[in-house]
Order: sequence, then structure tokens, then C-alpha cells
Amino acid sequence: MDAKINTTTNTTNKTIDPYGSDLIEDYEKIITDFGLEKFDLALFPQPNRLMRRNIIFAGRDLKLISEAIKNEKKFYVLSGIMPTADKIHFGTKMVIENIRYFQEHGAETYVLVADLESAAARGVSIEEARKRALEFHIPCYLSLGLDINKTTFYFQSQNREVVKLGFEFAKKITLNEFKAIYGNADPGRIMSAVIQAGDILFPQLINRMPGIIPTGIDQDPHIRLTRDIVRRTKEKKFFLPSSMYHKYTPALDGSSKMSKSKPESFIELPEDPKSACKKLNRALTGGRENQEEQRKLGGVPEKCMIYEMYKQHLIEDDALLKERYYLCKQGKVLCGECKMFACELMTRFMETLTKKIDENRHKISKVKFVKFDDN
Ligand code: SF4
Repeated sequence: MDAKINTTTNTTNKTIDPYGSDLIEDYEKIITDFGLEKFDLALFPQPNRLMRRNIIFAGRDLKLISEAIKNEKKFYVLSGIMPTADKIHFGTKMVIENIRYFQEHGAETYVLVADLESAAARGVSIEEARKRALEFHIPCYLSLGLDINKTTFYFQSQNREVVKLGFEFAKKITLNEFKAIYGNADPGRIMSAVIQAGDILFPQLINRMPGIIPTGIDQDPHIRLTRDIVRRTKEKKFFLPSSMYHKYTPALDGSSKMSKSKPESFIELPEDPKSACKKLNRALTGGRENQEEQRKLGGVPEKCMIYEMYKQHLIEDDALLKERYYLCKQGKVLCGECKMFACELMTRFMETLTKKIDENRHKISKVKFVKFDDN
């Protein structure tokens, strides 16, 4: 981990470092309230950018996966595509980067297209969901680094094993337990939750092995439900699914999570670079009242959305990130110039992503799908 420096103000004596952040709600509290394990960097070899920079903050049963990697045992990583939109967001990018990490460390990789759920809960027909997945989501997942030869996809609507598991699992939970996990229990939510439990365990129908679901913390209820179900179906000898959670990418106005309800603070993937740069230009920064003060006191990257974008997404190289951090802290760069640099990085990223999506669209016939006998 990078060196830390102590800074003393009139009221606080606080440790700061290039991977710190003042932005967020209390992730320690989330860990306690949800009964999670704090993420331990020592568990995983060659940690990725998100792990190294404290953006991964918690998980469940991570040792099981760490052991599988160290002992070169079989395990899987799984995630789902919700094909309701024709763009993704930065949170999904983090999930894909984490899938890639486990794929590169030996995981069998499964990505399901939640077409049943998008039809039942979001009003997008199965045909439309399929079209969007093939034309955009799958090419986009490949463009963000999944290996086309090592990733297996399936459509929920074609996977009768998952639907069967969902029906079996529905008998294993009560309405009150469901309400305790999800807050409410409408029939659509129950249906989609038990099907998701089926998805999470599906690779274990092929081969009983540990598996990990990298995701945002808002998906933890599905993990909890699935783990409860596994404990109640001991005779099936499923491994408890592990999970790993990333922090949110904050909105550019400084609120805790990028959300489509605030289009000016929300950058989609892919987005026209000009539009993305316009949004970066309006982002909340940790800059001072005026240039003179900033040169004298330095900026506050811990409160800056531009720096947060560097840290989470735009700068891969740790040495470069550290350089940006100290340029800011020491008042050697002003926010206007810094935003221009962020815009250059964002433009490069978006142009590369768009080009790769186009290329991968043409490779769709080479994508591996699970073969189902009865379809
Ligand atoms: Fe943020 Fe850059 Fe301004 Fe520092 S100089 S506060 S990192 S925009």
C-alpha cells in the first residue's frame, strides 16, 4: 500500500492517502449491519485496481475463493446482464473488471442474460431483451475485458434448470423471511429472487464447486437469500456462494451514487465524449475559493469527483494516480487544467470502448452459450 502522510488542521489530526475518500456514507456501518467480512487485500494474488484502491470493501466467504485460487481448484464467477437499457453504467464496468480478475485467476466464467426478469419486472419483452443483449451488452462485456473463449453466456428464459431450481427454492422460504431480507414481498419480487438464486447456483449443477458473485452492495439480499436456501437444502451439497462488493461510483455532483434520475451527474457507457466532458467540467471538485488560495493551500482530492473518477476508472497506473494526488494536494495544478486532463482520459476511454464494441458485435457468432438439450 502507498505511503501515508499525516496532516494536521485546527480541529482534526487525520491520515490521508491517495486511496482515501471523504465522500461516502459509512461503509464500516454497512459491513456491521449486513454482517459482511471486511475485504482483505492479502487474500488475492496480483490484486486488481479496484482491490488495491479500497474500492472493493467487503464480501462473504472470500477465503473459500482465495483457497481455490491458491490451490488451483475449480471455482466459478458469475454475473448477470439486465438488458433493459442500451447503455451500461460505471458500476457495471466495475463488476466486469472483477469478473475478469477471477477469470484471469482460473474461474469458470458464466454470464446470464436476465431476459425473464426484464420481461416480468421491467416490461421489456424476451425478444427485445435478447436483441439488446446480442447487439450491445455481450459485445460491451467482451470489450471491457472478458475473454470470448473463456466466458459462457446463457439466456434465463432458455435455462429450464434454473426455473426448476427457482420453484424448488420457493418452498424453502417463508413470506416473513423474505420480507426481513427484501423489505417487502410482492409476487414479482419473490419470483425473480428465487430464479436469481437458481442462477447463482446453476454452475454447481454442472460441477459442485465454490463460486463468487462480484457485485454492488445493493445486490446483497440475493446473496443472503441464496445462502439461506443452500443451508436448507444440505442434501444437495451446494457450496455457499461467496460474494465481493464494490463501493458506488459517486454522482458528479457529489451525491453518493450515479443515478439516471440526475442525467447531468451521470455518465453512461458508452457516451459521446463531448457530452461526458461537459459533465466532467461541471463536476464538484475539491478546489479552493480562488486560484491564489489553491496554489497556497492545495486542493482536496478526497472531496473531488474528478479525482474519484481518476481513482475508480480513468487512471490504471498507481504511480500516475499518486502523482495527480500530490499535484493537487500541493497546489501545483488548478481544477480547470485538471478537468482538461480528465476529459482527455475520458475521451480516450470512450473512443476505445466504442470501437471495441463495434468489433465485438461482429464476433457474436463466436460467443459460447450453454447448450440446453430441450431447447
Ligand atoms: Fe480535483 Fe483536480 Fe481540482 Fe484537485 S486539482 S480538486 S483533483 S479537479
